[in-house]
Amino acid sequence: MIKVCKFGGTSMADGITMRRVAKIVESDPSRRYVVVSAPGKRFSGDSKITDLLYETDRCVRETGKCGEEFEKVRERFRAIVRELGLDFDVETLLRETKEEIEREKSTEFTASRGEYLSGRLMAELLGIPFLDAREYVKFDEGGRLLEKRTFSLLASALKNNERAVLAGFYGADEQGKVRTFSRGGSDISGAVLARAAGADLYENWTDVSGFLACDPRVVDNPAPIRALSYRELRELSYMGANVLHSESIFPVREANIPIRIKNTFRPDDEGTEILPSSEYRFGEKIVTGIAGKKDFTVVFVEKSLMNQEIGFARKILTVLERHAVSFEHMPTGIDTMSFVIDSNELREGVLEAVLREIEEAVHPDQMRVFDDVALIAVVGHGMSRNVGTSARLFQAIARAGVNVRMIDQGSSELNIIVGVDNENYERTLRAVYEAFFPSET
Ligand code: ASP
Repeated sequence: MIKVCKFGGTSMADGITMRRVAKIVESDPSRRYVVVSAPGKRFSGDSKITDLLYETDRCVRETGKCGEEFEKVRERFRAIVRELGLDFDVETLLRETKEEIEREKSTEFTASRGEYLSGRLMAELLGIPFLDAREYVKFDEGGRLLEKRTFSLLASALKNNERAVLAGFYGADEQGKVRTFSRGGSDISGAVLARAAGADLYENWTDVSGFLACDPRVVDNPAPIRALSYRELRELSYMGANVLHSESIFPVREANIPIRIKNTFRPDDEGTEILPSSEYRFGEKIVTGIAGKKDFTVVFVEKSLMNQEIGFARKILTVLERHAVSFEHMPTGIDTMSFVIDSNELREGVLEAVLREIEEAVHPDQMRVFDDVALIAVVGHGMSRNVGTSARLFQAIARAGVNVRMIDQGSSELNIIVGVDNENYERTLRAVYEAFFPSET
């Protein structure tokens, strides 16, 4: 039995929590491979090491020197070594790191040093080898993970190491230049290592006891999700349930490796299990979870007999492509088509140019833009087996007095996405949650 365990920033925040991590790893001999994040916040209002490093990068670019923010990074790592009582020359390591940051002047290199340093310390604490992700996790020029190459490099490294610590979040391109995943990407490193190790389980240790059926900042005390499928996870995490990076399922999914979310601070809690759809027992529930995000823009295009016009959608998509705008959803009717775009994608002037060019390309009868739209995704395999799910959903929204701007049901019947005005987001989320997870009182 091989388990790969990834520990997030809160679990690595100081010496005391790092001891906790070591205890968890050592309590189960199958926990052979460990992936770590950089130290995160110790308390609310504290800084994450990775944020301090992005500040450091800004300073290096402006002045050529690491500056004050890096001093905070140094102090955090010094304190960790002190708290752990490690006999480890952290001063030399920090000095070398500073010199390298000033020499390399690369944002991704600088940002990666949090994981590098915390990985070095965790390996020291556990007394097992440290694997520098720079040598094993490979990216192409465009910053995309080279999966096959990475799996094979890691697999050969693991053959020679019964146990090891891998630093999360980064790797390097074929020229050896350090590249990072997007924020929160140590989850992906963990999944990659689990795949390369042929692990039986990928344990992802964080500071909550798994996924909840809705955002606890909006809904009081939402129900925990005990199990969900990879596909449900992807939908929910993409739509804002941010326990796990939404891309971290891909490496493990192909190899059918289950993921378990665990809480470092309540290790006995069951957590959430994420399983391949084939092994997932649906049980009675209709909806697994509800998630959502604000700030989308919907471009609505209407033209009579659009359905007979060959290439209509292609012409519009070409306009979006020309402006490098990706869209999230594309609900269509016979004579209508809408494009839901993350508003952050629309830099100054882009929307105006897109609208102008759509006008020229397809001469629509009508074109309208709704901004400040929030999307709410209701996700669950159970929905396809139950009659009346959408009636229940829309009744709840109507009862809350909210006007629906857009509806999209994914072709897999795994989700229904509803667009409402940003200002109605919280109200709708609460109403929908209550419809599918009625409170006991
Ligand atoms: N330290 C990185 C971040 O804060 C990556 C991670 O923790 O997963 O985004």
